[in-house]
Amino acid sequence: MTRGNPCQLPGMLPNYDPNDSEAGMKILEDLTENVEQIQQRVLEEIITRNARTDYLKGFLDGQFDKQIFKKTVPVVNYEDIKPYIERIANGDSSNIISAEPIIELLTSSGTSGGQPKMMPSTAEDLHRKTFFYNLLVPVMTKYVDGLDEGKAMYLLFVKPETKTPSGLMARPVLTSYYKSNNFKNRPFNRFNVYTSPDETILCSDSKQSMYCQLLCGLVQRQEVLRVGAVFASAFLRAIKFLEHNWKELCSNTRTGHVSDWITDPGCRKVVSLVLNKPKPELADLIEHECNSKSWEGIIKKLWPRTKYIEVIVTGSMAQYVSTLEYYSGGIPLVSTMYASSECYFGINFKPLSKPWDVSYTLIPNMAYFEFLPVKKKSEDGAQYVQCNGVCKENCMEKETEKEDVETVELVDVKLGQYYELVVTTFTGLYRYRVGDILMVTGFHNKAPQFRFVHRRNVVLSIDTDKTSEEDLLKAVTKAKVIVESLGILLIEYTSYADTSSIPGHYVLFWELTSKGNNHLPVLDPKIMEQCCSTVEESLDSVYRRCRRKDNSIGPLEIRVVQHGTFDALMDFCVSQGSSVNQYKTPRCIKSGEAINILDSRVVARFFSQKAPFWEPV
Ligand code: AMP
Repeated sequence: MTRGNPCQLPGMLPNYDPNDSEAGMKILEDLTENVEQIQQRVLEEIITRNARTDYLKGFLDGQFDKQIFKKTVPVVNYEDIKPYIERIANGDSSNIISAEPIIELLTSSGTSGGQPKMMPSTAEDLHRKTFFYNLLVPVMTKYVDGLDEGKAMYLLFVKPETKTPSGLMARPVLTSYYKSNNFKNRPFNRFNVYTSPDETILCSDSKQSMYCQLLCGLVQRQEVLRVGAVFASAFLRAIKFLEHNWKELCSNTRTGHVSDWITDPGCRKVVSLVLNKPKPELADLIEHECNSKSWEGIIKKLWPRTKYIEVIVTGSMAQYVSTLEYYSGGIPLVSTMYASSECYFGINFKPLSKPWDVSYTLIPNMAYFEFLPVKKKSEDGAQYVQCNGVCKENCMEKETEKEDVETVELVDVKLGQYYELVVTTFTGLYRYRVGDILMVTGFHNKAPQFRFVHRRNVVLSIDTDKTSEEDLLKAVTKAKVIVESLGILLIEYTSYADTSSIPGHYVLFWELTSKGNNHLPVLDPKIMEQCCSTVEESLDSVYRRCRRKDNSIGPLEIRVVQHGTFDALMDFCVSQGSSVNQYKTPRCIKSGEAINILDSRVVARFFSQKAPFWEPV
């Protein structure tokens, strides 16, 4: 253990040179062979370090025993630990939950009471993340040759940050990592040479950042061997940006002069260096490709040496696979990792597998992992809640109540079973329900591999937003008050995430009637637009940030449908196997057929006319 010595790696993280693929593979083999021992050591280490924290003391009473830990420490949700996090944010000592000082709070895309959840983070955890990123190198080089013979055009962005009353930084996990010395002073690694200079990644103006990164990527197009962004939604946003700005990008390339609106001094300086001199031939070439009527395969045309596109296309991002395939020209889509603000979890050991076959192997020295079994409908007669969520498979998830919580360990999960992930981290989370539902698809040595199935309770997602049925109901309830005051009733509603254009947007289908006469009312567009805005204002902070600041979500739309549309939807659901007696209107629709049923009965469409209010937490 290395507490007090920031130069050394913390305990349990083997030190190795990421340029040494053989050493990397050996570490991966060790990690996946010795899962049980490593998990036990991780738990032991976490308990030993933290048994005296207020939080654990309350349950362990000073005992350092793993069995007592599992018997007495409860499996918790964010609401259970929120008071501790808030105390730390307000100036209490972080040792109430963690012996290691908490140096910042990571704002998650999951929300609580409309605001982002905040996850504790420590200095040593940055090393854990670096170790994790380094493990991706041997995996990728095992499957793709020659990655060290060029560059990666990875479009990476930082998001706004703020300080808590106690002065702790509160910001998203990737912003924290990119701004850390681990990223900025990263030792040279021949597989991680980016076309984007750090100044362009770290620029807080997202438009300037995007423009400069694309310009650098275009200028160095012959060197680019892989392209990507963290999530598919961000990469597609970049393609759309290129569609709107290629003429200006070409003009800058032609003249060797960066546009005057790029005012960030760091960006101007580094981009001018990359541009170097007028490049009229290159500009002609880019112009020729971008000018073509169809943008099918544009990635392959602009960056001809690209071997793969690195973007997460699992979970809610699966909705973007076909659009990406259209632009990619057959280049493989690679989802390398599964991670969160709480902890980095797993790596895709078969990076070239198709998006729907992707599984992640949890890395056993990242945290202590437990699993709450989630039952599928057919298994018993117990109560189930339907997951109408972002998963395509419409699985039925059993709500696991606190009383019957029985977790299983990483080595005890069973092939084909569904589980909710629970983590005990090095940073002060103990038996914390992450909210992700995973399915075991196989094993790499002794390490189980998981397919990401869906996020608990999420029905709508376009970018990093995660809207639950309850969030939606609350927002719709606020908006319907507006029409009710005019004698109009909202009889039924449902929703879907429309990603047919970029950025995608939320669509609400509303069936309305006039109070008293059962007729479709005459609708004032201004009033309906106000309803759209009210829904947006009522959605959580992450939605509002994506919509207002990141422009990664388009204006919300209400589509008013004819009378009887929701009866037709019910008939369809029943024809697909829903029980008539237990039928409840799904609040989110995935099925293309069901969307067609609704769409064919639309009588009017209205869009939000203004972006909702947003400010950092
Ligand atoms: P955040 O807390 O904002 O960092 O978001 C983390 C969440 O994003 C995870 O708990 C997952 O729900 C989702 N996520 C992260 N990586 C993946 C992935 N590779 N596939 C699907 N979902 C992911």
